[in-house]
Amino acid sequence: KPYSSSDRRSGNAAKQPEHVTEALRQKARELAKHRKQLPIFSARETIIKEVKDNACVIIVGETGSGKTTQIPQYFMEAGLSAHGTIAVTQPRRVAAINLAKRVAQEVGTTIGNQVGYSIRFDDTSSKGTKIKYMTDGIMLRELLSDRLLLNYSVIVLDEAHERTLRTDILFGMVKSIQKQRAEMIEQGKKGIEPLKIVVMSATLDAEKFSAYFYNAKIMYISGRMYPVKVLNTIEPQSDYVDAALVTAFQIHQEETAGDILIFLTGQEEIENLEKLIEEYSVDLPTRFGKLIPCPIFAAQDSATQQKIFEPTPAGCRKVILATNIAETSITIPNIRYVVDTGCHKSRGYNAKIGIESLLIEPISKSSARQRMGRAGREAPGLCFRLYTEDSFEQLEEDTVPEIKRCNLASAILALKASGVEDVTKFDYMDRPSKSGLLKSMEQLYALGALDDKGDLTEMGKKMAGFPVDPPYAKVLLQSEVMECTKEAIEIIALLSVDTIFTFPSNKREEANEARQKFLSLDGDHLSLLNVLRGYESVKGDRDWCRENFINGRHMRHVLEVRKQLIEFSERAGINPRTSCGHDYEIVLKCFLAGFFQNAALLQPDSTYKAVVGGLTVNIHPSSAMFGKKRAAIMYNELVFTTKHYIRGVSAIEASWLAQAAPKYFGQRQA
Ligand code: ADP
Ligand code: MG
Repeated sequence: KPYSSSDRRSGNAAKQPEHVTEALRQKARELAKHRKQLPIFSARETIIKEVKDNACVIIVGETGSGKTTQIPQYFMEAGLSAHGTIAVTQPRRVAAINLAKRVAQEVGTTIGNQVGYSIRFDDTSSKGTKIKYMTDGIMLRELLSDRLLLNYSVIVLDEAHERTLRTDILFGMVKSIQKQRAEMIEQGKKGIEPLKIVVMSATLDAEKFSAYFYNAKIMYISGRMYPVKVLNTIEPQSDYVDAALVTAFQIHQEETAGDILIFLTGQEEIENLEKLIEEYSVDLPTRFGKLIPCPIFAAQDSATQQKIFEPTPAGCRKVILATNIAETSITIPNIRYVVDTGCHKSRGYNAKIGIESLLIEPISKSSARQRMGRAGREAPGLCFRLYTEDSFEQLEEDTVPEIKRCNLASAILALKASGVEDVTKFDYMDRPSKSGLLKSMEQLYALGALDDKGDLTEMGKKMAGFPVDPPYAKVLLQSEVMECTKEAIEIIALLSVDTIFTFPSNKREEANEARQKFLSLDGDHLSLLNVLRGYESVKGDRDWCRENFINGRHMRHVLEVRKQLIEFSERAGINPRTSCGHDYEIVLKCFLAGFFQNAALLQPDSTYKAVVGGLTVNIHPSSAMFGKKRAAIMYNELVFTTKHYIRGVSAIEASWLAQAAPKYFGQRQA
């Protein structure tokens, strides 16, 4: 019954439940003063009026001006939550939790009452929830069960400047829902209320959002900004963690009071640097106060996370170690010094296998400016860029929207799973190319995710639930049938890094020789597995890695990805421990189920010709199959350099093809 007005929240005025203690009320009264001092406070009445008068509003404001914490409260105070919850979407889980907790304090309640959050596997919202912070992924999921978002009165799309694939899809979805609801109201349908859309961004280029949402008015909230002096390194730094360590101690010993914020790319780096700071602090002359490392990342208990917001003890200095979550999502007080490593993990997407959040990349100029800005919120500050001025000039101006750079097959799956039937007509803010869309749809059809009418199949629904590109998702699903999930997960994890071998230019011969003992006659997939077996048998020993020319850093990364894939399989009800033992043919067949479109056959002239498209492809010199002649091969990726090179290559039998994709090859042969 998608059109019923089953508003489970209506008429449920939040009573003051017994958990609201005097202590909570007292805390809220204290915070009320702080709330009134935020830059956004002077715009309170205007914002409320604009949102009441208009269907869409765009709000731009410097990070820390109070957008995310205050605006939803203003709406609640103005009665906008009378007919539904106010939803605030966030690209990151940690931000959703943190912001909800802060707002609960300001409101004078505990999480799960008027204020709650919802992230995957953790939903604290309840009937009385008026303000709900949620990840964009959860909002998309919500659409699967509440197509018109009737539980909501206002959707705040926060951090819009990040342009994640999910936020981009949400833009189109909420726009269409708003229109549908307006039409139903016009037709006199009972119990339907209009949906308000608020888009919030920390960067100034909001015209695009405005143009997309019917030229909605852009409100600019001026923040307070003090000058920040930027210092670049003279030479490029080979190890930015090390450089950050040195810089932190230098600041501590030479600069006036104020905390340090270091931008790193992930938990592993953060924990490394935390240890290093602790080690080196021991030798710090006593006339300097303590240097206290405060890490912040997702997998962390909330008490530790709270530490970053607590006042710094007198004479000491905090060093906040954060990812780009501290760029615009959460504001940390008292920062005077920013150390910018110039890198981030390309959140949500590794183009190699389409897995989420794994690729370390240079940031954009606009990110670098945001990072710099964090030093000047309360007083003039300093920003240490651990890269040269030249490197800065070479950065991209803005981060490219994910929808422009990621495989569309996964975007299409997500759209279809949210009920969009014709993905070519979807109202994109940045439209992917039509040929790209059609090609991706063909691919999904061949994989069995779409049927011949272009509708999502059961298989497609399952694939949509995996955070990897569709061919890899297919391999994982197929591995359940073929009983080789353990091996499939391991190989996918191994393929997620560029290479696990090292080739120092002065030791090429030795490196090559060392590599030989891992190589399988059947190609790269099984060779990779051999390396992992070796690596695990010595428990990742560093000396072993060095002797065997294995990149230890990449291997640790592989184990991380494997862990993620194991978790996702378990959630999907697939046993990640099912192993095919030494029957490796099964593993190759399983991969072929996802990669049959990447098969090539040996020609009489000893070249390989792709089965689909007929391109002549060359086995990359780094492949275990280089120089080998087998009747049929499959590969994971095609790279264009001077030639069409293929990587991740293994031998197959041509007869497996029809088995792997009967629909596809059956048709072609007929
Ligand atoms: P914006 O969304 O505009 O970047 P926020 O609403 O997130 O701003 O933050 C407004 C202010 O609230 C910040 O400047 C900071 O002082 C304060 N604040 C936010 N979260 C917390 C927290 N968890 N603990 C302490 N102060 C916080
Ligand atoms: Mg914000």
